[in-house]
Amino acid sequence: MPPPDSLIDPLGYGAVSYWLETAGDDLTPRPALRGEIDADVAILGAGYTGLWTAYELLRRDPSLRVVLLEREIAGFGASGRNGGWVASGLNASSDRLERAFGSERMAAIEDAVAGAVDAVGVAIGREGIDADYAKGGSLTVARGPEQVPALEAHWAGLERTGRAAGYRRLDATETSERIRIEGALGSVYGSQYAVVHPGKLVRGLARAVERHGGTIYEQTPVTDVEPGASHLRPALRTTNGLVRATVVVLAGEAYLTQLRPLHRALLPLYSLIVLTEPISDGDWAAIGWRAREVLASYRLSVDYLSRTADGRILFGGRGAPYRFGSRIEPAFDRDAPTHALLRRFVETWFPSLRGIGFSHAWGGPLGMPRDWIPTFSFDRAAGIASARGYTGHGVSTANLAGRVLAGLILGEQDELTSLALVNHRSPNWEPEPFRWIGVRFTQESLLRLDARTARTGKPPSGRSLAERIADH
Ligand SMILES: Cc1cc2nc3c(=O)[nH]c(=O)nc-3n(C[C@H](O)[C@H](O)[C@H](O)COP(=O)(O)OP(=O)(O)OC[C@H]3O[C@@H](n4cnc5c(N)ncnc54)[C@H](O)[C@@H]3O)c2cc1C
Repeated sequence: MPPPDSLIDPLGYGAVSYWLETAGDDLTPRPALRGEIDADVAILGAGYTGLWTAYELLRRDPSLRVVLLEREIAGFGASGRNGGWVASGLNASSDRLERAFGSERMAAIEDAVAGAVDAVGVAIGREGIDADYAKGGSLTVARGPEQVPALEAHWAGLERTGRAAGYRRLDATETSERIRIEGALGSVYGSQYAVVHPGKLVRGLARAVERHGGTIYEQTPVTDVEPGASHLRPALRTTNGLVRATVVVLAGEAYLTQLRPLHRALLPLYSLIVLTEPISDGDWAAIGWRAREVLASYRLSVDYLSRTADGRILFGGRGAPYRFGSRIEPAFDRDAPTHALLRRFVETWFPSLRGIGFSHAWGGPLGMPRDWIPTFSFDRAAGIASARGYTGHGVSTANLAGRVLAGLILGEQDELTSLALVNHRSPNWEPEPFRWIGVRFTQESLLRLDARTARTGKPPSGRSLAERIADH
């Protein structure tokens, strides 16, 4: 039985998302930790960050004793719920990274994240993880005249920062040759993007970590993180036990906000998803989308789509309300108005699918730092490492994080451990009620702006307060 403070609903872990349901893995929880144990590295969280870190450590030094403590089961968090985009970039724009770190260090970050798209493919090939990985590229579409200026700005940014070579600007006809989308006036195609079955990836990775000698304890909530001091190594304390280790890794992304010292380090922002029933071959022939490109538009309130390997459309978006006090609860995974909006979008993007059935709807929290910039950190004196703050671009970035954290922990010095993201410190979010007021204002304003610009065909000004706050 799950412990009383488990987040899981009575339907079982398969109900968390279509991805966990169809991961092809036994979701019966692994044994929980009971009592005190000792390890070299103890990791909080068995999502992509924790698992890639464990995997990279064990590949480099198979003698290490690596232990993961997972509150629910491996893949319970965003890693088992996401949109399947293996993205070539961070959510933070090149401009923002350049302002923070300068152009050379910005380029090093962007190259490293882009490289992670292939690194995921190579690692799962090596480990025999069949995660439906397909490198079909990305398409960011201007759906209507109101989105054309954003497309122009996107393209200008790629040219200015010297990244246009990996992208192509497509007109309406070229766009429809790839995917026929109602109202699409043009798009930016990026070649360095892939799509994956997130559940097969995270569950397969957990098995790989075990094959390499790691131990995963599930249904084991960490209640306290004890930093190391001169006479004592750091520890993770759980409801029924404790792991003392040379290094502790905090890999809980949005859920880290539930630990007091990290409460304001991130904002847990809910992203929600709907999934269609399998689409007929005839309908697919009309739509195209043969390469399984990951797909989005320039909506301010964010949308993202993917075509699953079994022929469904996944439509995700970020409209669901932020909850006062950064609360995270299973009930927030489903928000009826947001899910209804996403279902309507499927039909407006693809009118030939009007009346299509939807089989699944779910969601989950992602972690957003105040300055949009993730961090890979290691404090050797305290013995605490962490990687977090991917703002919805964690599938590739967590793989990079795993390689960076393993390098930092093992004392390696190379281009990854000297990335500007290493030991980057984001400011904390505002205390409540200011946090709730600011975030809800921005969320509501962006949804209203999207609705208005879609109705009028006029682009947003870019000068409204909400746009300036949300400018990443
Ligand atoms: C709906 C949705 C769609 C997304 N779509 C995309 C996408 O298409 N592409 C993309 O790149 N990114 C996407 N993201 C973001 C991406 O999924 C995440 O950035 C990534 O999975 C983060 O991995 P993680 O391991 O750091 O965190 P998580 O996967 O959230 O894992 C953290 C783990 O820690 C555990 N945990 C938390 N607290 C404790 C504790 N106290 N004790 C023990 N265990 C604990 C949790 O149970 C969880 O399993 C999406 C996110 C969501 C929610």
